[in-house]
Amino acid sequence: MNPRLPLTDAHGHLQAERFDADREEVIARLIAAGATRLLVPSWSTESSRGALEIVRANPWMDAAIGIHPHHATDEAHERAALLEGADAPEIVAIGETGIDTKRNFAPIADQVANLEAHIEVAVQLGKPLILHCRSAGDADDAQRQLIKTLNESPITSARGRAAFQDRPPFILHSASGSAEYISEGLALGGVVSLSGLVFRPEERATADWVRSIPLDRLLTETDAPWLAMPGAPDPNRNEPANVALTLAWIAERRDESIEFLAEAISTNYDRVFPRSRPRTDGSPRSA
Ligand SMILES: [Zn+2]
Repeated sequence: MNPRLPLTDAHGHLQAERFDADREEVIARLIAAGATRLLVPSWSTESSRGALEIVRANPWMDAAIGIHPHHATDEAHERAALLEGADAPEIVAIGETGIDTKRNFAPIADQVANLEAHIEVAVQLGKPLILHCRSAGDADDAQRQLIKTLNESPITSARGRAAFQDRPPFILHSASGSAEYISEGLALGGVVSLSGLVFRPEERATADWVRSIPLDRLLTETDAPWLAMPGAPDPNRNEPANVALTLAWIAERRDESIEFLAEAISTNYDRVFPRSRPRTDGSPRSA
């Protein structure tokens, strides 16, 4: 790996229990690999607390808080109190949240209500939504529901446009699905974030649509500790430093140099997740 690349992991769950034993080493490897941007997103009330704690100790990182669709029912009663804290300066985005019909851990009505509550806070604060969306197999029912909810929500209305101005209002995190879905997401102003999912045979559609994503609407992520990709040093646990492998995969398919793409993605990150805190303190590189 080239440590001079500005590596961007727009989605790494460093607060996950699976990093408890060696979190500092994982962070050291990430910095050694050239990382300058890391967003730690959450999936529950407890993981939101964990994200804030890590970002306060490592101020070059950013946090997102929210409740994953898997917890749309069991954490519904905690949601309002959690989201009330979303104006904290370390929090640059809301999520992850969205729709998941692959594992269906919560009834769809609860998932939609959970998503709508997050959208409302995102629009109020002008902080973008981090959206998870998975359907089973080749189905696209989760994607249909997600686009429908976005279309009927304030995030695509005049109020949403006023809140975000020129900035993308949401991120399709670990983007997966058809070219049609991706272009609908782009048409609504979203950004497409690619993870190690791109390496899976069932996600082969990505190799086609990855070329059509405008350069300024692309992000890279790991979704660590999940979604380890071929070539990851530990096939059972992904970590943010591995984002270099996904970056190389994208650069090859788009016929762009890794250096060029890394710079563009780092610039995208700063536009999508503007900070109210300075980037200099504790940053591996302030650039
Ligand atoms: Zn995630």
